[in-house]
Amino acid sequence: MNELRILHRDRGALRAGYSRAVRRFEIASIAGYAVAMSWLLLEIAPRFVVNPFLALAALMMGFVAADFVSGCVHWMADTWGTAEWPLIGKALIRPFREHHVDQKEITRHDFVETNGNNCFISIPAALLAVALPDGAAGFFFATMTFSMCLAIFGTNQFHKWAHMDAPPPLVRWLQQAGMVLPPDHHAVHHSAPYAKYYCITVGWLNEALFRLRFFQMLERIISRATGLVPREDDIGKGAALVVAGQPLPELPKIVLPSIELPLDIVDVGRRTLAEPE
Ligand SMILES: [Zn+2]
Ligand SMILES: [Zn+2]
Repeated sequence: MNELRILHRDRGALRAGYSRAVRRFEIASIAGYAVAMSWLLLEIAPRFVVNPFLALAALMMGFVAADFVSGCVHWMADTWGTAEWPLIGKALIRPFREHHVDQKEITRHDFVETNGNNCFISIPAALLAVALPDGAAGFFFATMTFSMCLAIFGTNQFHKWAHMDAPPPLVRWLQQAGMVLPPDHHAVHHSAPYAKYYCITVGWLNEALFRLRFFQMLERIISRATGLVPREDDIGKGAALVVAGQPLPELPKIVLPSIELPLDIVDVGRRTLAEPE
């Protein structure tokens, strides 16, 4: 894909788009998130001791679900829309455009700018989980949602650490253990045309989603239905059309190992059934 001519948005204009209104939106989102998550925790915490293994399973599922949600939100914001859209464009799409132009900018974000957006997308999920009915299934999904929203809260911090030259030693250890987004894994996404490895909580699902053509298929369906060109606003129409015309990645070939049995197995197929007496 050497002929690809990437045309990003203007870096200065994108940075100038971080207005006071967006800042207020982020602060309100963090406050709303704190309220919704405290409410949800009060609902589920008393049941942890009653059903600890179900709670543990739900907490682990929530972490994986957060990785999937981070990929979906990242893909949507990278691929569709523009930073000029009111509210969503300015608050949610603009940071993703800026991140492809200057990937180190995220390391200069303070607490509010790092976490405001993620808090906003978690609020509806946390409130829905509060309203889930009692019972084992309700408790499982409420606990899973709590864990997912907590990991989504951590996602931009994990992403920020992946771009830092010298993260704290404990963070470096977590990255090497694959428990938070590893920098070398995330670097795959930052190679043009920024069209794969969208998951940024921990990245466990990236290779599977890529090989399943998950986002590529969604792009084709949406393009056919709407006529929109994926990532046109991010890399320019020319490059976006070249990327959209690329063939889908090969599906993985599943090779089953041949098993050689060392035993002399009796050929039961040729045995005749004993006549009943
Ligand atoms: Zn991206
Ligand atoms: Zn990044």
